[in-house]
Amino acid sequence: MRLSHETYRRMTSDERTVRAIAGKELAEHAPSNRTDPTCTGCDGAPWPCAIAKGAMKYVDPRYN
Ligand SMILES: [Zn+2]
Repeated sequence: MRLSHETYRRMTSDERTVRAIAGKELAEHAPSNRTDPTCTGCDGAPWPCAIAKGAMKYVDPRYN
C-alpha cells in the first residue's frame, strides 16, 4: 500500500489519469442517501467501502 502510494506520487504525468479513474470509482461507489449510508456499487455494503476509501486518496490530496 505504501509502496504503490509513493509510486503514484512520482508518476505526476499520470496523476490526471489516476484521478479520473478514482473519480469514476467514487461515482460508482457513492453512498446511499441515508443516515447510515451503504455503498450503491457494492450492493449494500457499508460506505465508504474499500474501493471508495482507496479512490478518495487520489481524488482529494487532503486525504493523504
Ligand atoms: Zn463500493
